[in-house]
Amino acid sequence: MSEEVKKPTRKTKAAKKAEYESIKEQVEQLEKQLLELKTKAKELDADLNPAPKKDAECPSQCLTCADCRVKACFNNEAEKYPSFCLTTAVNKKLLQKAKDIYLTNDTDKKLALTAAYVEGNFYGKYTRVQETIEFIKQYGAKKVGVATCVGLLNEASVFCKLLKKHGIEYYTVGCKIGAIEKSEIGIPKENTLTKGEKFESMCNPIMQAKVLNAQKTDLNIVIGLCVGHDALFMRYAKAPSTILVVKDRVTGHNPVVPLYTAGGIYSKI
Ligand code: SF4
Repeated sequence: MSEEVKKPTRKTKAAKKAEYESIKEQVEQLEKQLLELKTKAKELDADLNPAPKKDAECPSQCLTCADCRVKACFNNEAEKYPSFCLTTAVNKKLLQKAKDIYLTNDTDKKLALTAAYVEGNFYGKYTRVQETIEFIKQYGAKKVGVATCVGLLNEASVFCKLLKKHGIEYYTVGCKIGAIEKSEIGIPKENTLTKGEKFESMCNPIMQAKVLNAQKTDLNIVIGLCVGHDALFMRYAKAPSTILVVKDRVTGHNPVVPLYTAGGIYSKI
């Protein structure tokens, strides 16, 4: 009697796709677990084999505060400082100079004490918007400059209404002030949003600063200036500036998201 030959069953396209998705998910899980294990192993290795104390002058390779897991400087717990600690190796002369500035420069002293007031009384209770308004009031700013991205004018407008409600005088200037075409300062077409097909005004943070300087603002609030444009604004603004919104279109202006999720979706950054 001849044996019946079984035909191999062929998978449908849908079944193959489901299998592929399942394997892909498993691979992602395994990659995540591997990353977590590697991080744990690194921490254990650092505990078991503390790095030898390096020359305080070492410029690039030395361990710094980002490698620290103890944060002993928080309460000056001398017995817990790591071998590479920047506090134990601090340049005492520079430290004294920094301290002297808080004690002798009126503006810096006022900024430090006002920041401490807001931190000490509202930490974890107030949102950044509330903290900023409290900071402005406590600092005693007579006129506040608002340097905003034109892409966040709606948000700037809501913030300005709050300033008005709290009796704070303000002056707002958007980043495209002056409408200078990008090519006029040598920005190449390939670095524009429309690749040269349309007129594109450059962001003009230097002019924003100059406008607010002319308005004699006592304090500036930055709302969503692009990375680097914020640096230029702060280089040219005469009044101290604090940042309310950091622009990050991808995360809804929450740039810490990729850092929180660095072990997962953003592990390939
Ligand atoms: S100063 Fe020392 S204790 Fe503080 S975070 Fe840096 S390395 Fe850690």
